[in-house]
Amino acid sequence: MAALAARLRDLEVRTRPEHPDLTAALARRWEELPAHVKTRNQMLGRRTAGCEGTHGVFPRCNLACTPCYHSREANRVRTDGEHTLREVESQMAYLRAQRGPGQNAQLIGGEVTLLDPDDHAGALQAMIGHGRKPMSMSHGDFDYGYLEALALDPATGRPRFRHLSFAGHFDSMMYGRRGIKAPESEAALNPHRARFCEMFARLEREHGVASYLAHNMTVTPANVDQVPQVIRDCREMGFRMFSFQPAAFIGNTSRWKHDYRDFSTDEVWRQIEEGAGARLHWGAFQIGDPRCNRTAYGAYTGDRYVPLLDEDDERDARVLEDFVAAFGGMDFAAPPGILAARVVRGLARHPRAMASGAGWGRRFVARAGGLRGLVRERPQPLTYVMHAFMDAEKVKPAWEMLRRGELSDEPAIRETQERLQACSYAMAHPDSDELVPACAQHSVLDPQENLRLREQLPLLELPMAPS
Ligand code: SF4
Repeated sequence: MAALAARLRDLEVRTRPEHPDLTAALARRWEELPAHVKTRNQMLGRRTAGCEGTHGVFPRCNLACTPCYHSREANRVRTDGEHTLREVESQMAYLRAQRGPGQNAQLIGGEVTLLDPDDHAGALQAMIGHGRKPMSMSHGDFDYGYLEALALDPATGRPRFRHLSFAGHFDSMMYGRRGIKAPESEAALNPHRARFCEMFARLEREHGVASYLAHNMTVTPANVDQVPQVIRDCREMGFRMFSFQPAAFIGNTSRWKHDYRDFSTDEVWRQIEEGAGARLHWGAFQIGDPRCNRTAYGAYTGDRYVPLLDEDDERDARVLEDFVAAFGGMDFAAPPGILAARVVRGLARHPRAMASGAGWGRRFVARAGGLRGLVRERPQPLTYVMHAFMDAEKVKPAWEMLRRGELSDEPAIRETQERLQACSYAMAHPDSDELVPACAQHSVLDPQENLRLREQLPLLELPMAPS
């Protein structure tokens, strides 16, 4: 009887639009947000608790990027599967406790594919076990054999994941890639981008393991004018997201090569729009502070990019409000029966979402060229993102003052503090019971952390002392 009651209770929770732990975490996040980002399009604290990333789990990388956001000591730390698994477990358990289930988390550090495939798989499984949706961040310079070994259970030869998410970092400021040690242009990297996507297409063909691929690119004065061509050349390779990071003065100082402040984020976004071939409606949704993040959701039907929501259409703004009121942070990736129950319960708590959703559907179809157009050209979802990290020289004082509970009177530091308070990309510190913005992690905490790790995981074994 008690077992039946427990199962019913569990079912009741699973079919809620939001897990109660997520409801509590979102409410806390909304409460903490500074007033300037509490806008009607703000998703932080309403739809998501924000993105998450690992730190100090495998600091080393075998390519050299300019800039590199990791501290100089990172490359003196040995990649060690046991350490990775222990740290990932502890960081993810903390994130689950603080932020509830269903949040996107990046398995990030140095280069993830320097891990043994079984350790990489173990880290992803630990993340999934703690309710995270993991994405492996890689430079993409690995072979199909590695991907297959990651995806398949060595004991049975059958898939151990139904789905993998990877972000491939490709840009011409990365040196040491096999076959193209020093790329002369972004276009020269296109065969490597295509190869990356083809490996995942092959994995799906041969083993039925689906994937979600993002393309990451650092933008500096040296490649900003190549952004449109990268998008045009690579749009149909299989990436579902193009994410651009205007370079910041952060991490390893010996890897700073240009004046990264020679252009504005508006200029980068203009280049992205040129490549996308459309105006991108980033104002429809906001995740955190607009000075940090812009995100445009939409889909291509043929060459036409159709925004998910039109930022100028008041009806679309209301659709978003109705959607959030009905479903909040609901996870749509659920078994069909559970998903159906969540949708019904969501609509029951805010029935207006049904009518506004139907109106949005009609408008989306019209924007996509009508039903006939949609049948002819199946929509291909594609998301454009720009994430602008901040310079270490501002983050350091801003973060230190915030930790003392002080707000700066100096405008540039105050702006940095506002952005840190609205941060949408956090890293877990279970030992100090803190969530730290990635900017503060890289600017303030990484150097000390990597010094400690260098002692703990030295690259070379020390020779045995003579007895
Ligand atoms: S504070 Fe830094 S890490 Fe956080 S969202 Fe802004 S740029 Fe990203």
